[in-house]
Amino acid sequence: MEQYRHFIECCQKLIGAEYVYISDADKNPFLTDWSKRYTGNAIAVLRPKNTQEVAELVTLCCEENISIVPQGGNTSLCGGATPQSKGSSAVISMSRLNQIRELDLDNSTITLDAGVILSHAQDAALNAGKLFPLSLAAEGSCTIGGNLGTNAGGVQVLRYGNMRDLTLGVEVVTPTGSVFNGLRGLRKDNTGYSLKDIYIGSEGTLGIITAATLKLYPLPQSKVTSLVTIKDIDCAIKLIHQARERCNADLTAFELISTRAINLVPNKARNLRSKLDILSGWVVLLEFSSMDKEEQSQLQLETFLGEAFELELITDAVISTSIQQSKDLWSIRENIPEAQLKLGNIVKHDISLPISNIANFIEETEVKLNMLWPSMQTIIFGHVGDGNLHYNLAPISPELSEEIEEKRPLINELVHNQVYKYSGSFSAEHGIGQAKREELPLRKSSVEIELMRKIKKALDPKNIMNPGKIL
Ligand SMILES: Cc1cc2nc3c(=O)[nH]c(=O)nc-3n(C[C@H](O)[C@H](O)[C@H](O)COP(=O)(O)OP(=O)(O)OC[C@H]3O[C@@H](n4cnc5c(N)ncnc54)[C@H](O)[C@@H]3O)c2cc1C
Repeated sequence: MEQYRHFIECCQKLIGAEYVYISDADKNPFLTDWSKRYTGNAIAVLRPKNTQEVAELVTLCCEENISIVPQGGNTSLCGGATPQSKGSSAVISMSRLNQIRELDLDNSTITLDAGVILSHAQDAALNAGKLFPLSLAAEGSCTIGGNLGTNAGGVQVLRYGNMRDLTLGVEVVTPTGSVFNGLRGLRKDNTGYSLKDIYIGSEGTLGIITAATLKLYPLPQSKVTSLVTIKDIDCAIKLIHQARERCNADLTAFELISTRAINLVPNKARNLRSKLDILSGWVVLLEFSSMDKEEQSQLQLETFLGEAFELELITDAVISTSIQQSKDLWSIRENIPEAQLKLGNIVKHDISLPISNIANFIEETEVKLNMLWPSMQTIIFGHVGDGNLHYNLAPISPELSEEIEEKRPLINELVHNQVYKYSGSFSAEHGIGQAKREELPLRKSSVEIELMRKIKKALDPKNIMNPGKIL
């Protein structure tokens, strides 16, 4: 630590000693990610309070050749915000940049600091009678900066798009410490290269996003949720099209869940079983949002499900009749990521496929995996409306955790080969981070990788931003 004494003293002068964490006890909560798969080390964890302090810290890091790891809620599931183990980086935590800067209701935009927790941004919009639609299970911990850094998706992409689609402007501290203020609330702005799009999804490797201007939407007057059972994936795909064609209300979520995944949340599944036959196959969680009154939307959903039943697309259904019931249905889906951790070590895949290929992919991949190692089970759930599956593998008993760990490289290779065979992507919404860095050059063309390297070199010539991530 002696070699970093000067650097630490300068940081303390810039942002105050109480916001420069150097003891292990203070740093540790920032050094391991949510999944507990990635742990690193850092010279210090720095907690600036505004854009100017971020810019001053970055300028200092640039001068001293200290690499930087931008961190929001550290919920990235691929180790994107966790420093490397060498301990030669500074983590810049965005947690104190947590102000809503402006709500422009006439323009339907919100401008806010990058450290604002996603659920706080949703609440700020709601209190103003508007909707900020990004929604994901980590919304109580993840931040707007992290959502931008990863181009987060979630459960309403089907209707509103992902973070890139929801963003009009960003403010960024570049790797040399200058501030790019692109906080424009414009829906049309063709003035050269779209710089904001370079930063969105760059996982902290090109600069630190300090604020953003995001789109707001009218608050739906009603939301109706239903959980339906289906006999196979083909039925799910037909159901999506049917839902889009037959309902005036907007289809806002379409989540596919295997019954095995549902059974991981036993209390909730037990309640559900009294109302729904979920003994086998798959279930789909559908949500429609509408400007119509609740009763009208409810009626429309009942009519739609009646038709789907006649067409044999669904075998059974429950419909929420209150906000609480809707929350209960959603909580089944939202509890799965955490519940699966009790199965022992899990090999996770965040993949996307053209929805027309999903059924063949699932069927064929399951057979191949069984041949590779019969002692594993698939836990499949995801935002299938936009082709995104969380395709996870767990051992059939937690005692086999070590064995699945040994097989992890082979399983990944098999699943990802299948994904590319079916024209998909091996990272739908979580990003590359450190988890998929080595595989990236195998999955993208050399031309794409070369262009990415050139962008990185041009924007971060000293290579100080988030080393060991993406490239
Ligand atoms: C239970 C659970 C469910 C999840 N569900 C979803 C889901 O449905 N959809 C989805 O997309 N993701 C999901 N995720 C993943 C994760 O929540 C998202 O990637 C989220 O956007 C990360 O936000 P964060 O603030 O935690 O970012 P972090 O994990 O702190 O950082 C993520 C990346 O962004 C960079 N970064 C952070 N802040 C900034 C900044 N201000 N400027 C530049 N770079 C920055 C980091 O360096 C890192 O590379 C889930 C995670 C969990 C734990």
